[in-house]
Amino acid sequence: MATKQKEHSPIDFTRLESCPKCEANWQDKPIPEDSQEVYGGAKWFSRVQGIYDRDRDCTIAWRCPDCGTTWDRDTGKIIPPLIQP
Ligand SMILES: [Zn+2]
Repeated sequence: MATKQKEHSPIDFTRLESCPKCEANWQDKPIPEDSQEVYGGAKWFSRVQGIYDRDRDCTIAWRCPDCGTTWDRDTGKIIPPLIQP
């Protein structure tokens, strides 16, 4: 039997150029070429906000800094805005 791995969102929100909802530009400062490898080959910093869960010690959702739309990190689906402590 194959090991079932936890599925991750097919969308990498830190790589999107703009918000899928409000189309705000998410591209921030460009990453210097010699540092891009550290960021997994990304060419610019993203303005998208990662929502961090201290208990689970991981990012659980992404949030658009402009319209506040929040996406579940695992499913990539829009979820109700999470209240940040
Ligand atoms: Zn947005």
